[in-house]
Amino acid sequence: MTRSFRAGAAGVVRLAGLLIFPSFCHICREPLEEAGEKIVCGACLAKLAPRGGPICPRCGRFHEGSGGDHLCARCAGRAPAFSAHRSCGVYGGTLRDVILIFKYRKYAPLSRPLARFADSCLGADQTLWENADLLVPVPLHPSRKRDRGFNQSLLLARDLGLRRGLGVLTGALVKTRNRPAQAGLRAADRERNVRSAYAVKHADKVQGRTIILVDDVTTTGATIRECARVLKEAGAKEVRAITLAQA
Ligand SMILES: [Zn+2]
Ligand SMILES: [Zn+2]
Repeated sequence: MTRSFRAGAAGVVRLAGLLIFPSFCHICREPLEEAGEKIVCGACLAKLAPRGGPICPRCGRFHEGSGGDHLCARCAGRAPAFSAHRSCGVYGGTLRDVILIFKYRKYAPLSRPLARFADSCLGADQTLWENADLLVPVPLHPSRKRDRGFNQSLLLARDLGLRRGLGVLTGALVKTRNRPAQAGLRAADRERNVRSAYAVKHADKVQGRTIILVDDVTTTGATIRECARVLKEAGAKEVRAITLAQA
């Protein structure tokens, strides 16, 4: 069998595969042709862009307009238990599309390009990474995890940990109450909803550690504030947080 015949045969097999099992980008519907493309094509992933502009250096909330970073009114009044939170972008456009496909359509392999995106946006921000010991994903309640099949924050933390050379601690921070999902609740209700919803089970694993919480999306920040509060109470030295997007 000649090389060109073999190459031709491989092409026919691949074409047949595409015809029988066509795979298309879940966002733009173009066929996935490049090696390694899964679920969302490279062109759509290339549209993920970090948000620039001023932020609150404490809670990471994006400020409108231009100018420098400055504390938001909320952090100026009462600082959260975490020392810094950073998001990659605003929850909208392609970032929102990719997160929704990842989370609700359960396409776990998307955690890899999303972690790569997070690292490219925030990898240089030493406020987040300096002397960090561990990544801790925001946990799901066991029953919700059963429904969804996976914890998207854990997958993200694992891929981010591989990129940053950081271990991922699971099972220490747990969700103890299965309150309604935050989506759809007003800000005040979100605060009430997460209160006492998280606990630390193995305080020895967090004591004296500098921890980075990992979550996919933050809206009011209620979840990461509450997780940071219980981790600090359990003896964590410092808690920081990273999210893909803020709504
Ligand atoms: Zn696409
Ligand atoms: Zn703030």
